[in-house]
Amino acid sequence: MRKIVIAGNWKMYKDLEDVRAFCKAIASSLETKDLGRVLPILAPAYPFLALLQRELSDTSVKVAAQDASAHSEGAFTGEVSAAMLTSLGLEYAIVGHSERRAMHNESNEIVREKLMMLMDNSIKPILCVGETLEQRDADDTQKVILEQLNGCLNNVSLYSAEDIMIAYEPVWAIGTGRTATGEQAQEVHSIIRNWLTHTYSQALADEIPILYGGSVKPDNIAGLLAMPDIDGGLIGGASLKADQYLEMINIALESRK
Ligand code: PEP
Repeated sequence: MRKIVIAGNWKMYKDLEDVRAFCKAIASSLETKDLGRVLPILAPAYPFLALLQRELSDTSVKVAAQDASAHSEGAFTGEVSAAMLTSLGLEYAIVGHSERRAMHNESNEIVREKLMMLMDNSIKPILCVGETLEQRDADDTQKVILEQLNGCLNNVSLYSAEDIMIAYEPVWAIGTGRTATGEQAQEVHSIIRNWLTHTYSQALADEIPILYGGSVKPDNIAGLLAMPDIDGGLIGGASLKADQYLEMINIALESRK
C-alpha cells in the first residue's frame, strides 16, 4: 500500500519566530498520534531546516529541502549542496519546482543533474512536473509531462519505490486558487503511473507515491485523495497555517483508499 503524503512547501515564507510558533502548534498533536501510512513532510527555507528537525523530532514529520545545487561543492556562492543536506540527516528534497524552472531557467537537464546529486547523497527527490495553461489549452499536457519525465529521469535507475516521489503540479493551479478537478488530476497521474510501469516496472510503479500540487487546501483535499492514483499533496499556501496543515493530515488519515 502506498503512503499518503502531506507535504508542505513553505517557499520563501516565515521567519524564525513564525517557524517556532508553527512547530509549537503542531508538535503536541502529532507526538501522540498514530499516523499509519500518512507521511507528513515540511519543506522550510534553508535556514530553518535544522530547527524544524529539532523541534519536530518527537513527531513523524520529515523535513525536506526545497532545492539543492547541481554541484557537489566549490565556489558557488549562495548554493547548498546535497551533501550538506545529508549531513543534517535530511531524507527528502523538492526538485524541479515550476517556480525554479520558470524563474531560474532550470531545464529538464539541470533538474536531472540535481536529482542525481540528491540520489547520490541518499536524499529522495520529490520531482515536480506540470504543464502551463498555454500547454494545456494547446492539448499538450501529456506531451509536456512525458518530456519532463523522460528528461529528468533519463537513464536514472530506481531500485526501490522509496527512491523517489513525483509531484504533478499544473502551473496554472499553483498559488492561483484554481485547483485541477480530481478527474483532471487523475488523468495525468495515471499517465505518470503508466510511464513508470513502462520505464521501470509494474512493482515500482505500484508503490511510488504520486502527489498532486496546485491550490490544495482542507476543502478540496478529500476529493483529490479519493482518486485512485493521487497519493497525497504538495501544498504551498495552505501548509503555512498550522491548523490547516493538521486538518489536511486528519483528512488523509480518514482516506480509505
Ligand atoms: C506549491 O508550492 O508547490 C503549490 C502547489 O502551491 P499552492 O498550494 O499555494 O498552489
